[in-house]
Amino acid sequence: MIACHECDTLHRKPRLASCRSARCACCGATLYRNAASQLDRISAITVAALVMFIIAQSFPIIELDANGILSTSSLFGAIAVLWRDDMQIIAAMVFCATVLFPLTEMLALLYVLLPVRRGVIPPGFTRVLRTIQFVRPWGMLEVFMLGVLITIVKMVSLARVIPETALFAFGALTLMFTVVATFDARLLWDIADALRDAARDTSRAHDQHAQRNNPLPEPPQ
Ligand SMILES: [Zn+2]
Repeated sequence: MIACHECDTLHRKPRLASCRSARCACCGATLYRNAASQLDRISAITVAALVMFIIAQSFPIIELDANGILSTSSLFGAIAVLWRDDMQIIAAMVFCATVLFPLTEMLALLYVLLPVRRGVIPPGFTRVLRTIQFVRPWGMLEVFMLGVLITIVKMVSLARVIPETALFAFGALTLMFTVVATFDARLLWDIADALRDAARDTSRAHDQHAQRNNPLPEPPQ
């Protein structure tokens, strides 16, 4: 059974064909979508976001040209400057919100998504899902992106600002991460329960089959 999150109407929960979604009969709100198509979509976006994350961290974000003096700035460079300028707490917060927590969320999601798509529950499944739920509110890529854009607008009057590779990568990453963040981890609990039930049914059927076959004596030759 499943309750509508809008009007609390109870519905029986049928299995859905791929690319289908179940809607409430009373208010029309989407109750849930087909799990397999959702897992494929989120896995693909998470892999793409991870690639974008590596590009965003590896290249400079902007290049400043102030009267012929060129300087580039990357995220790690900015964190290192904060650390050197006795702002270790801010440097640690920026590192956690823009590097550590988003990376942890992506790796943890892939760790559970890829085996679950093949019908396998990975070791430490529950702990990894709890980790995702813990780090999710603390990843603040969109806040960082907003800060970078405001800084660029303010710097334009002081120097020529040239956008670099990582700026576009951060923009794409922010959009992808927004989609990843909409993924409800409860779906994985449901799938894991269904997989455990299926495994229990299979082993029970196997035991019954073995019991039925073993007491029979060998037919005489
Ligand atoms: Zn409803």
